[in-house]
Amino acid sequence: MSIFEEYIRQMDTYVPGPEPPLREPERQLWFTCRVRSLVAQRAAAAGRPLTACVRTFGCQMNERDSEKIRGILLAAGYVLTEEEEADLCLYNTCTVRENANMKVYGRLGLLGNRKKKHPDRVIALCGCMMQEPTAAARVRETCPFVDLIFGTHNLYRFAELLAAVLSGNGPVCEIWDKPDAIVEELPAQRTYAFKSGVNIMFGCNNFCTYCIVPYVRGRERSRTPEDILGECRSLAADGVKEIMLLGQNVNSYGKNLETPVSFADLLRQVNEVEGIERIRFMTSHPKDLSDDLIEAMRTCGKVCPHLHLPLQSGSDALLKKMNRHYTRDQYLRLTDRLRSAMPDLSLTTDLIVGFPGETEQDLQDTLDVVRRVGYDTAFTFIYSKRSGTPAASMPDQVPEDVVKDRFARLLALVQETGRERSSRFTGQVQPVLAEHVNEQDPSLLTGRLPSNLTVHFPGGASEIGSILNVRLTQCKGFYYLGERA
Ligand code: SF4
Repeated sequence: MSIFEEYIRQMDTYVPGPEPPLREPERQLWFTCRVRSLVAQRAAAAGRPLTACVRTFGCQMNERDSEKIRGILLAAGYVLTEEEEADLCLYNTCTVRENANMKVYGRLGLLGNRKKKHPDRVIALCGCMMQEPTAAARVRETCPFVDLIFGTHNLYRFAELLAAVLSGNGPVCEIWDKPDAIVEELPAQRTYAFKSGVNIMFGCNNFCTYCIVPYVRGRERSRTPEDILGECRSLAADGVKEIMLLGQNVNSYGKNLETPVSFADLLRQVNEVEGIERIRFMTSHPKDLSDDLIEAMRTCGKVCPHLHLPLQSGSDALLKKMNRHYTRDQYLRLTDRLRSAMPDLSLTTDLIVGFPGETEQDLQDTLDVVRRVGYDTAFTFIYSKRSGTPAASMPDQVPEDVVKDRFARLLALVQETGRERSSRFTGQVQPVLAEHVNEQDPSLLTGRLPSNLTVHFPGGASEIGSILNVRLTQCKGFYYLGERA
């Protein structure tokens, strides 16, 4: 029985008392039952099931949070849809860049117009942007039609907050400036049947000067290995083959647990979970990546040979201004150690162009590291001034035309070196996890290699979720074409 089915079974056998229990997660079970009866009443009045749309902005942490929100909505009787003109529309927001916020404000205008015609529709907002006091205040002031606002720390209380809105006690706005607990045992509706993210920790302690995450996601809190392993076992029993262990900086996992556990040891334990065939993780901060973790990656057969290791800049001066706590030499020595332990390891990275004070020499230093490391691919970002972070008030913001020119040069190098490095598997037969039918050509499936590169190859929908042997016949830059081996 899947985790979700188990939750529905619990709901079906649960007899709610007159008052909600004080303890979690029982309290949320009580409120999910309450929402289910309110949804059933509205559906009966409408003569059709109620629909709900969850739109996710941002990273994999948000994607995972949205799966939990969808799980609660499904358990409460909503039918999920991709259409925003649903009975409930929720935006799980991101605030990593200023324009992510602008996108949400723009779309909210549209939702507001629709709500004028259908006042019964529920509009909800959550996620990182709502943790920013100025953004939440702006939404409350300018968008009175929003029924529910909550943040990242109280997501587990979604059923309780939604119950208040559906009972006519809205609008509801509940944002906590810090978390109170990690609440386990909430249902989640996974996007994929065969792979899943697993949160191992929340928050970040690093305070990189360009990043808003520590302010909106709070300090690091790790889940216990028992809870993580329990979730991995349930996912395996539910047919999941690949898991992605998620945290803002997984390398500092477990430091604050009552009995500290290193990420390397956690990886070894997850590697023992029967039924899980592939393990990935993200994100790794270079300053905390231990030799023990390299050894665990090398020896754990299920851990994929891929590491996303954000460099951000190859210039020592900028790394210092970014508060990254490593130098270019330390980073290069680390990638040398990784490659000597795992010669075929795929390395990917994040790079920022146009950080305040960046000079041509700083860019040259970054280009130099890109050439030396040989990334499979790199995500290149133009520095985006994020109000509320120290870098936003740094002098010497780089003019736009200079940034654009530097960005184009970096991108060209990343593409050239990435293409070269990615082609090293041509001719080999590799195990591929088939993920979906190819959007352009339905006679093909699209799947992922252990290195995280994608490949398109002949196959049918019934094979989605299987690990298949595929010969990589042609490298097209950042993906392959293949044939069945
Ligand atoms: S490590 Fe730095 S960039 Fe990553 S989430 Fe933490 S503060 Fe942000």
